[in-house]
Amino acid sequence: MTTVLDERLVAVLACPCQAHAPLTQQGEQLVCGSCGRHYPIQDGIPVLLMEEAIQA
Ligand SMILES: [Zn+2]
Repeated sequence: MTTVLDERLVAVLACPCQAHAPLTQQGEQLVCGSCGRHYPIQDGIPVLLMEEAIQA
């Protein structure tokens, strides 16, 4: 099952990396357009923690 986040929510989210770049949803993850980190979405809540991020 794929969680689809509200576009308005995604629009206000920013990556915690130095660039604070906007994120885009790809499947069950949010992807930073700057550093390329992938953040998991757990129970419909994006986990924007550098420690939880998957380096691309
Ligand atoms: Zn980033």
